[in-house]
Amino acid sequence: MEICVLEKDKMVGVVGGGQLGMFFTQSAQSLGYRVCCFCNQPDEPAARYADEVITGSFDDAACIDRLTRMCEVVTYEFESIPAATLAAIADKVQLRPSLSVVQTTQNRALEKQFLADNGIPTSPFAIVDSLETLVAGVRQLDGAAVLKTATDGYDGKGQWKIDSGADRSRLEAIHQEVAGRTCTLEKFVDLAFEVSMLVAGDVAGDFVTIGPMRNRHVNHILDTSWVANDVDPQVEATVRELATRVARDFALVGIFCVEFFVGKTGEVLVNEIAPRPHNSGHLTIDSFSQSQFDLQALAVTSHELPQPKQARPAVMVNLLGDLWAEGEPEFESIGDSLPGTQMRLHLYGKATARPGRKMGHATFIGDDLQTVIRNADQFRAQLGMEAPTELNQV
Ligand code: AMP
Repeated sequence: MEICVLEKDKMVGVVGGGQLGMFFTQSAQSLGYRVCCFCNQPDEPAARYADEVITGSFDDAACIDRLTRMCEVVTYEFESIPAATLAAIADKVQLRPSLSVVQTTQNRALEKQFLADNGIPTSPFAIVDSLETLVAGVRQLDGAAVLKTATDGYDGKGQWKIDSGADRSRLEAIHQEVAGRTCTLEKFVDLAFEVSMLVAGDVAGDFVTIGPMRNRHVNHILDTSWVANDVDPQVEATVRELATRVARDFALVGIFCVEFFVGKTGEVLVNEIAPRPHNSGHLTIDSFSQSQFDLQALAVTSHELPQPKQARPAVMVNLLGDLWAEGEPEFESIGDSLPGTQMRLHLYGKATARPGRKMGHATFIGDDLQTVIRNADQFRAQLGMEAPTELNQV
């Protein structure tokens, strides 16, 4: 198959203006492309770097029209974009990853069904859209379960844990809160740990992977990530193989992140797919030969993909708006004072800091992963950050 790489200077579109769009913009520009960002506000991080900015509501037909006239190919940096908008874009220009990737992964029910239909291991589940189907699902799954809204849930929002033996009144109360939204009910997995794997696909149908990443959370928000070097080789091979299979089943052109549960009995299950670069891949910017955003930019412009290599161990720490309560902390003086690592600070330039809002991240790099984790934790402690939920597993 002859592959036509997009000519330099052509315009590439990105829907969404957050930090993922900002890093994508920088990568695409470094390849020689111009970038048009379609976002809601002119001061969003990606809009500050893009060559062209279209601001408006995502369902504004005139904005969509301008975007598709200007761009040869369009990607996106988050999944909660109205499906009709993405369909209107895909109707006119290449959308990468494709419409089916985003339509499926932006809806948990469709995503779980896709995984099941393709024989990809995932936790047993039922689709729930009434009190009766909730009661039947709990009975069918027989044990602890989690109910999740099919759309618009993120960072643990829109989820209800249902303990084994929950009575009808508890289910009625949850049903009230769900307020008519379609949900997935999933069997609760006794987790050993969770990992994520980035996978990118090119137009020739080849795939490369980065990971697995070990992730720690605070209040359901990603807090710390590193490339795990201690995962059982069999589990690592399974995670890599499954991530690639999911990408192949979707005929992925672009990058996405597959999140996995590894159960205490060794089972490896796909939890969900983020159809874009992922927060757990931010450490690729400073510690890999190509970042996740470089892969995205290469893939959407029809280049072949290199297999990125990690140069040195690295740990990423997210910096949330909570840290700005009394003004911007002196991140550099803390990070730079820790012996044995270098810190790379990325602040996204968001105008207002709110609790839980991702304002930036710091990547620590060194020669030995244990030292890098220790220094990242020291940095967190000096900033007074809350301890992560997971143990400090290496
Ligand atoms: P999610 O938004 O689906 O990624 O869920 C958020 C977090 O809740 C996950 O990272 C897990 O720690 C936990 N969780 C979600 N679903 C399950 C499950 N079926 N079994 C065990 N833990 C879960």
